[in-house]
Amino acid sequence: MTVWQETASRDLMSLGGRLALLTRGEGSWVWDDEGNRYLDFLGGIAVNCLGHAHPVFIDAVTEQAKTLAHVSNYFATQPQLDLAARLKRLAGTGDSGRVYLANSGTEANETAIKLARLHGAKTGRTTILVVEGAFHGRTMGALSLTPKAAYRDPFEPVLPGVRVVERDVDALDAAFDESVAAIIVEPIQGEAGVVELPEGFLARARRLATENDALLILDEVQTGSGRTGEWFAFQRAGIVPDAVTLAKSIGAGFPLGALVTFGAASELFYPGTHNSTFGGNPLASAVANAVLEYIEDNDVLAHVRAQGQRLRDAVVGLPLVSGTRGAGLLIGITLARPVAAAVREAAHARGLIVNAPTDDVIRIAPAYTIGDEEVSAFASLFEQALVEVDAATASEYEDSETGKVSA
Ligand SMILES: *Cc1c(COP(=O)(O)O)cnc(C)c1O
Repeated sequence: MTVWQETASRDLMSLGGRLALLTRGEGSWVWDDEGNRYLDFLGGIAVNCLGHAHPVFIDAVTEQAKTLAHVSNYFATQPQLDLAARLKRLAGTGDSGRVYLANSGTEANETAIKLARLHGAKTGRTTILVVEGAFHGRTMGALSLTPKAAYRDPFEPVLPGVRVVERDVDALDAAFDESVAAIIVEPIQGEAGVVELPEGFLARARRLATENDALLILDEVQTGSGRTGEWFAFQRAGIVPDAVTLAKSIGAGFPLGALVTFGAASELFYPGTHNSTFGGNPLASAVANAVLEYIEDNDVLAHVRAQGQRLRDAVVGLPLVSGTRGAGLLIGITLARPVAAAVREAAHARGLIVNAPTDDVIRIAPAYTIGDEEVSAFASLFEQALVEVDAATASEYEDSETGKVSA
């Protein structure tokens, strides 16, 4: 063990995953304490949308820190007002929309759960529907909406009244009943391995929610803020939710979350029902404004769509790759063998950061600003990693590829 690894294992809560000691970043590259350079195609898990040390980010933090970093929420600040107006406009809420600013994805989702409670209280309903494979966060409320046993079981009992629906349009029909206050859905399930919903699923959820006087809440913590090549993934599906949550890329590395409501859902919270000390502080708000303005003014979303396509084209046909999923720059690369962890390690050893959300999926979520040079560098490093793992695992999986059971 190196000195920093010893320190980490002694002083940090034992929660796994300290792969290197990173010391500096620039654009899509980061460096560790030994001077090794990595191409960062995970971007802090879909967070660093402008890469590292982007001048827009640096200037926004610096200027706002010099002016006003934090005030209590007894006061309003201009960055907060500007951000709320901007998010309403980008989400297309019209005048009736409202915005709540939080500090993280899970906190935005906690706010969404409270929104569902306030809505359900009007009709005596408490059931919240979630989709199999969903990930909504790690605090107790959001955790209750996350079906994965490994995350949830140690913390039982979780919130009652959560019902898990299969990723299937007919299952959705069957799940809606008189008890449902809300359904919470990720338009693309990032942590599940960049899993897309079946065709028509969101449209059906929209219709069923409306017919049953339930809220349709979208968790766009990972897919929002331009990640899929649209400001919100729901805009790709052509539906309008009652509420949507954001975090990850919205602050390009500055912690910030948001809940945006539409129409009648905007009238549910009232003074005293919710708040947060740091939520919507001027520093975080100013950074998000600058980031979103930069994306808008430079038509960065067209670039996200174009580079997303280039990346997908670049991996098709590489050894072990069986397909790609996702949209824009949230991409799941599916593998023909359950060797994603080995591929991730081989990539890391070559200076490429990706992750393996499941056994057979590699996820990439690079900066929106990647150029063709980064796409080529990725393709080359990733191919080397795949070739290595393909060779190392060929004999083990030979049989299963010909349809026989392997040892
Ligand atoms: C990451 C994520 C969360 C949790 O966000 P945190 O900022 O880690 O609390 C919630 N929902 C989705 C879809 C996410 O991807």
